[in-house]
Amino acid sequence: MNEKKKMSLAVQIFIALVFGIIVGIALTGHASVAETYIRPFGTIFLNLIKWIVTPLVFFSIMAGVISMRDIRKVGAIGVRTIVYYLCTTAFAITIGLVLANAFKGFFPVLQTTDLVYEAAEPVHFMDTLVGIFPSNFVDPFVKANMLQIIVASLIIGFAILLITPEQDSEFTMVTMLNDVFMKAMEMIVKLSPIGVFCLICPVVATNGPSVLGSLAKVLLVAYLGYILHAVIVYSFTVSTFAGMSPVTFFKNMIPAILFAFSSASSVGTLPINLECAEKLGADKDVSSFVLPLGATINMDGTAIYQGVCSIFIASCFGISLTFPQMLTIVLTATLASIGTAGVPGAGMVMLAMVLSSVGLPVEGIALVAGVDRIFDMGRTAVNITGDTSCAVIISAMERRRKSRK
Ligand code: ASP
Repeated sequence: MNEKKKMSLAVQIFIALVFGIIVGIALTGHASVAETYIRPFGTIFLNLIKWIVTPLVFFSIMAGVISMRDIRKVGAIGVRTIVYYLCTTAFAITIGLVLANAFKGFFPVLQTTDLVYEAAEPVHFMDTLVGIFPSNFVDPFVKANMLQIIVASLIIGFAILLITPEQDSEFTMVTMLNDVFMKAMEMIVKLSPIGVFCLICPVVATNGPSVLGSLAKVLLVAYLGYILHAVIVYSFTVSTFAGMSPVTFFKNMIPAILFAFSSASSVGTLPINLECAEKLGADKDVSSFVLPLGATINMDGTAIYQGVCSIFIASCFGISLTFPQMLTIVLTATLASIGTAGVPGAGMVMLAMVLSSVGLPVEGIALVAGVDRIFDMGRTAVNITGDTSCAVIISAMERRRKSRK
């Protein structure tokens, strides 16, 4: 019964995606119809998701901390999660750079005169660090600042652990509220096929096949990188560290991958990703912490995209990057992907940081901006898959640790 239900959501989303693309193609040339009458329903759906995601993260992390019953255990899981995220991201950017260098000869050389791109003010690393800690209780919720919400929920979760006697560690108010928001999330997730249709259709109608034009080859290389990274890295990690067949992993990830693809938002995909992680057997207390953190700081797809675009932009300007410059890109793109918010288009903004770290002209972003959404759909799908692979692995490690005790 459960199996049937699981398949049906994946199939529904898939049909919605294909249908959305077909209707989108049919509406090319009449994009305003799709923008005016179809996109608003996608926006309603995304608004509901955005609305639910902050309380969901807040209560699920607290409930996770409480059920772990041990602050040290949360710390150990946190460290392992961050190490996994950093290593896979560094690997992703390396794949991006290697592929882009291999296929550089096929890239088009676009005109770079008259390029204008207004880069956002660069943020200093120390300011990013300070910005993780909230200075007002409600502000993180109002601004949906995920990292601040994570910090707040950890502190309060720890406080609850410290004041609650051991035997009474089911702190019912938090657990109850967590259940309520989980239920509300499930209700919203059921609407995802409609959401997917209404989100993808205007994107296809507006961009049309012609926009791909000269950038098709760069897009292809980025997508090749996304696929290779997912297939090689996640297959290897889930089978080695969690003993799970990669086929099982990817099959259960289909709803979240398709949703990420059409919404281009890791944070928006969080509710559906939590469900997929549960079906994959990840512990709730682990995934309620690992997935929101990943949706905010773990961006392997974004890193691949930044690698490919750096090489492409450099070649348009007739610049050849040296090996040390590429190492700098690996470092900055890993940091940039941590600073990238899990919302559409954020990765392109952070590309400015990567380009300027090796002295490439930031205006080059204008070369790829027109098709950013298409890059973004693929990179988001990879981003969230990486998060779930981590939840599956950490859960398996925790289970092994428990059984050794
Ligand atoms: N849209 C991506 C995400 O939400 C971030 C990016 O733009 O790279 O994961």
